[in-house]
Amino acid sequence: MAKLPQTPAPESYTQLKIIGQAWDIVWSPAWLNPGQYAHCDADGQNIVMRAGLRGMQCADSLVHETLHAIESIYGLEMTENQIRLMATGLTQVFLDNPEYFGFLAERFEEELKRNGKNPT
Ligand SMILES: [Zn+2]
Repeated sequence: MAKLPQTPAPESYTQLKIIGQAWDIVWSPAWLNPGQYAHCDADGQNIVMRAGLRGMQCADSLVHETLHAIESIYGLEMTENQIRLMATGLTQVFLDNPEYFGFLAERFEEELKRNGKNPT
């Protein structure tokens, strides 16, 4: 079986820009609460993630907490169940359609060019 190329550990990802705000991703070596994988600290602009999360648990948790951050910034009043279902739904769409990110990247590149900015 071919060996997959090494990718950086999720813990190397430490900042998100969410609607113009810098949010830190803080990787916690300990459980936040038993069974809780992540937490959105809106006051501190932190997304706290349980270190060691991998695969879908990690992806779903990051999308989930990002939705909480957006909810906070926009002052939405979404229920936990709405956030959970939207996060899990989006994460599953991303998993089932890996070309989705390439498609979006191409659209972002078009947008950056239209705005006179060089894509990175
Ligand atoms: Zn939540």
